[in-house]
Amino acid sequence: MSDRSLYGSLQTLVSGGRTLSDEERLLLAYGPLLFWYEKNRRDLPWRKNKDPYRIWISEIMLQQTRVEAVKPYYFRFMERFPTVLSLAEAPEEELLKYWEGLGYYSRARNLKKAAMIVSESYAGAFPKDYTQIRKLPGIGSYTAGAIASIAFGIPVPAVDGNVLRVISRVTGSHDDILKQSTKRRVETLIAGVLKENEAGDFNQALIEIGATVCIPNGEPLCDACPFYTVCEAREKGLTGEIPVKTPKKKRKIEKMTVLLLEYEDKIAIRKRRSDGLLASLYEFYNVPGWLTGKQAETVAESVAGTVLTATKLPEAKHIFSHTEWHMKGYHIQIRTLNQSEVGEALIYDGWKEIQEKYPIPSAFSAYKKYLDQRYGGK
Ligand code: SF4
Repeated sequence: MSDRSLYGSLQTLVSGGRTLSDEERLLLAYGPLLFWYEKNRRDLPWRKNKDPYRIWISEIMLQQTRVEAVKPYYFRFMERFPTVLSLAEAPEEELLKYWEGLGYYSRARNLKKAAMIVSESYAGAFPKDYTQIRKLPGIGSYTAGAIASIAFGIPVPAVDGNVLRVISRVTGSHDDILKQSTKRRVETLIAGVLKENEAGDFNQALIEIGATVCIPNGEPLCDACPFYTVCEAREKGLTGEIPVKTPKKKRKIEKMTVLLLEYEDKIAIRKRRSDGLLASLYEFYNVPGWLTGKQAETVAESVAGTVLTATKLPEAKHIFSHTEWHMKGYHIQIRTLNQSEVGEALIYDGWKEIQEKYPIPSAFSAYKKYLDQRYGGK
């Protein structure tokens, strides 16, 4: 008898023909899921050991970024900040530089704040307590659950978008997975089946199924899934309608014009405001709205000096959670610099030096690439 028909028979025995409860579905799939994970887990750098620091950094990086994209950042970060203490002592600008390209910079700032608390209040060792981990800045229920269960074997759930999708399908739930109440229900359900010291593997197995089998885009690979026999959405053909997500509000579109002001092989940048989007990072000079070439030259003359040449650059778009930037760009070479008229603090430096010293968000990557081609990248 195959494993699948064995579990099918077990399921009939448990249910006596009635519909399984959500908890029964998870309990029936518990063993197959752990077995599947042991055979199929990806070999990821942060899984080399159970160091809570490594798990924490990787989980924060993975919040908005794919695994493959995170890896190079993770290696670089761990080399420069190998311990909680080194992170606690990191100069903020350098830390942001190491985060450049990952976006959502508040994550990096919160990492430092949390590292300082762990250093000062817990002598550099992560607290072995879910509630204390959860209280650290930037750590929500998912990350706290991941650290507590994977590093310390504490039986607490770690429910992210992957897990919500898998559990909604397994249980045939049409609850909106963007609602906190749905997340809490799923957390309670998983907490009810977790066993001490297996919680880390169980949580990671669920996340892994969501990332590689019960995938977010495209058909789920049900034939390869350990939930096959107990999954309500598979059985009833509901995978196209579950999970349910309320459509997000439309993003606000902001038009802007980016001016790459260049004077004698030096490029102008400036520091952004200390609050709001991309706070305290650096950017190329830009103004709201779309300017014509003539208007761009006029602005350049008022903030930099007389214009030698003005070249139109490709348009670019960057999508944030709630906003989209639609950018036009001009490369403007300045003939005579008139810094006395500079109303905003512009820093002129070589492109290579700028790349080494100043964090410039990937929202400007189209214009960074242009400068890479002109001057050579890092
Ligand atoms: Fe997802 Fe299919 Fe597995 Fe159900 S059986 S959890 S729909 S991959």
